[in-house]
Amino acid sequence: MKFALINGERKEAEPSLKGVCIGCGGPTLARCGEVRVNHWAHQGQRRCDSWWENETDWHRAWKNQFPSDWQEIVQTAENGERHIADVKTKDDWVLEFQHSYINPQERRSREDFYKKLIWIVDGNRRIKDKKRFFEILGDGGYQRDFPNLKSTFPEGALFRDWINSTAYVFFDFGEEDLWCLLPKSNEYYAFVLPITRRQFIEFHVGESMPSENRFEIFFKNYDLKPSEPAKVPPLVPATDAGNIHPNSILRLMNNRRRFRL
Ligand SMILES: [Zn+2]
Repeated sequence: MKFALINGERKEAEPSLKGVCIGCGGPTLARCGEVRVNHWAHQGQRRCDSWWENETDWHRAWKNQFPSDWQEIVQTAENGERHIADVKTKDDWVLEFQHSYINPQERRSREDFYKKLIWIVDGNRRIKDKKRFFEILGDGGYQRDFPNLKSTFPEGALFRDWINSTAYVFFDFGEEDLWCLLPKSNEYYAFVLPITRRQFIEFHVGESMPSENRFEIFFKNYDLKPSEPAKVPPLVPATDAGNIHPNSILRLMNNRRRFRL
């Protein structure tokens, strides 16, 4: 973790400091080496938050975009379950920066636990994800009925891992644009939207708009349009048949076959 308590105050790790874990109150030691970012570790092997993952430079760079008193915020459910949110904004959005693979069950648990959750996913962890994502984006989209919003056919590992998320998911491929996968996406349609990193941060920290909750208001537009996708495979539009992703035709054929039986 980036912070531990020393005399009740949140402090960053510095060589030879000892502190108290903000999550469980256990003793922690500062770890300041060459390989990993400076952090606090529990004495012994104790892990107080089963959801916690070791932080990379990528995690730390993201956290540091936000005020330090928004970072590593302990959240306690009514049943006493406690977790440490990577960032909690003043509008009560929890931002979770996810580098490692997360299984669907744990993803759902976190989405249930943090009601207003936004995932930021490291899109560069697996070597093929970025290439595949942009291939699919280039091939698949024939619906562009709202500015910048693209519907595409969700294939590939990234979509497989995140398509059923009920939260906003942002893929970070290390470029200025993040790609938001909207919660309404399903196994047939992925609704994706580019948004610059700067704009994303501005939504949460910025003071430039009068609104209390810029993020929510911005994304409300995309909740209305296009209309909620039906849980059916995409139909081939007659006017645009030349641009159809071959997989969509395959899927359509398979589906027709299924309907006949
Ligand atoms: Zn702890």
